[in-house]
Amino acid sequence: INRGNEVILEADSHIITNECGGLCVVAGAIPRILPGEKGVMDLNKVEGLIRKQSFKTPSTGLICIENTHNKSSGSVLPMKYITDISALAHEHDVPVHMDGARIFNASVASSTPVKEIAAPVDSVTFCLSKGLCCPAGAMLLGRKAFIDEARRNKKMLGGIMRQTGILAAAGLIALDETVERLQDDHNNAKLLALKLAEINDIFIDINSVQSNMVYFKINVSESKCLNIIQYLKNNGVLVDYKGGGSVRMVTHKDISEQDINKAIRQIISAINTIHAM
Ligand SMILES: *Cc1c(COP(=O)(O)O)cnc(C)c1O
Repeated sequence: INRGNEVILEADSHIITNECGGLCVVAGAIPRILPGEKGVMDLNKVEGLIRKQSFKTPSTGLICIENTHNKSSGSVLPMKYITDISALAHEHDVPVHMDGARIFNASVASSTPVKEIAAPVDSVTFCLSKGLCCPAGAMLLGRKAFIDEARRNKKMLGGIMRQTGILAAAGLIALDETVERLQDDHNNAKLLALKLAEINDIFIDINSVQSNMVYFKINVSESKCLNIIQYLKNNGVLVDYKGGGSVRMVTHKDISEQDINKAIRQIISAINTIHAM
């Protein structure tokens, strides 16, 4: 994209909510955001936002999609959506970028090869850390000219590293050995969700759990929630508290089925203890 271009993206996407406004500050782009449904934007609305350049309007430089979509419980973008939004974008000569930080989770959850998920779009990023267990690292994929430009920009931003072989080696192991076991994380997330659903004061939409993330609500006052989170922390269960009763829990390689059962016992005991206070 060029500076001054517009980028169409979902309102709760990581690029909007978790990157300190880098899209504007670093890329000099204007975000056009659309609230989606499980990460999926309405295609008519997307088309309505695409602009052609005139002497006074900015032009649309990119459409971004996120797969899996973190803020909607790690939901998997339907393959048809990826193909349709890409076709629409390409009709208007606009490229599509997939923030595929968790594309391997999407692949395992939908039994679709990553290659197929990525085929319709122009560029993809994915994380070697997170579910793939690397200590660090991420990949950017795209056509050669795009990657060449990205390397220049990376250098300009101070983003190159030396002696990265040790990290790359971990990345290779991640790709060879950790993808299949993502299914265990998904099974554990489902188990966690099913058990949470049985607890009074907890609301969870079990169907929202498609990959390795579990979002739920504790229906008690904010101060009780904070006490519950503190109790859990004191008892070895770390959760991501979003405020307003919303909690995110994520399963990964170091979380076993026994750990899920332990966490559930602690959550029940936290709620009971806080109510008794
Ligand atoms: C983690 C993540 C990224 C990349 O974040 P970094 O902190 O730069 O590694 C991008 N998109 C999503 C959805 C993510 O979860």
